Amino acid sequence: MSRHQITRLRHDTRRRTLTIVSIETLGSHMRRMVFTAPELKDFVSASADDHIKLFFRAADGETVMRDFTPRRFDPTAQTLTIDFALHDAGPATQWAAAAQIGDTLDIGGPRGSAVVPDDFDWVLMIGDETALPAIGRRVEELRAGVPAITLVVVDGPADEQRFAARADWQGHWVYRAGQSDDDSGLLLGALRTLALPAGEGFVWIAAETAVARALRAHVQDVIGHPREWLKAAGYWTRGVADAADKTLDG
Ligand SMILES: Cc1cc2nc3c(=O)[nH]c(=O)nc-3n(C[C@H](O)[C@H](O)[C@H](O)COP(=O)(O)OP(=O)(O)OC[C@H]3O[C@@H](n4cnc5c(N)ncnc54)[C@H](O)[C@@H]3O)c2cc1C
Repeated sequence: MSRHQITRLRHDTRRRTLTIVSIETLGSHMRRMVFTAPELKDFVSASADDHIKLFFRAADGETVMRDFTPRRFDPTAQTLTIDFALHDAGPATQWAAAAQIGDTLDIGGPRGSAVVPDDFDWVLMIGDETALPAIGRRVEELRAGVPAITLVVVDGPADEQRFAARADWQGHWVYRAGQSDDDSGLLLGALRTLALPAGEGFVWIAAETAVARALRAHVQDVIGHPREWLKAAGYWTRGVADAADKTLDG
């Protein structure tokens, strides 16, 4: 098989009901929850940027779905970790802010995985809090010694995370510091100062849709990175509920 072959897998999906066994606060507005359930015995998540559907009850009583990342799955303990970035409003954020140990949550998927091989000379991952679960998981899964550069926008130093990396991880953080909601400006400014390693790299971007689009344009058109070794997604869209744009085609 040639180098850098991305493999697409389909998985059987079914709905599972999980129970929270622990809750941890990460920084100023993230909550990490560990869930368990006997149904997790055949749970499969093959890629760090997989997503599962979480089912919530909206204010009008309807059931709605939102996408979240399986941050860590432990098949022996049958536990699944999900990190929730809390923001102003929305069924997912409201549920996550109020959740307590023993509460249940229905999930579906992952339906498929796009597995990026760990054979690149380096990896660059850029995003915001919603991307941190995929970024952290990927950094922790990468092979020993591979340069892994991450660039993440958060509110402040308390929101930085540490990853148990075997890779040669270089974490760059930029802060809104209550001064800015211009994630594009902050991330692009930092990206311009980054020296990328030599060789063939893979770039992954996930953030608010307009931010992800601006970053993708910079990586493709200014840095000149090959399109096939770049994946960019809008994980949410400012001012619009339930509005991910996973291919940025819109
Ligand atoms: C593949 C994928 C994986 C994802 N993984 C994760 C994950 O692991 N953890 C995680 O926290 N999120 C993750 N997200 C993002 C998450 O699905 C969205 O943020 C989602 O909109 C949250 O739903 P909600 O019910 O809280 O808000 P919604 O009802 O969707 O939106 C309500 C309002 O809040 C705004 N909003 C939504 N998200 C944010 C935000 N992060 N910051 C500020 N305003 C926001 C919207 O623009 C809207 O105005 C992922 C998204 C995708 C596509």
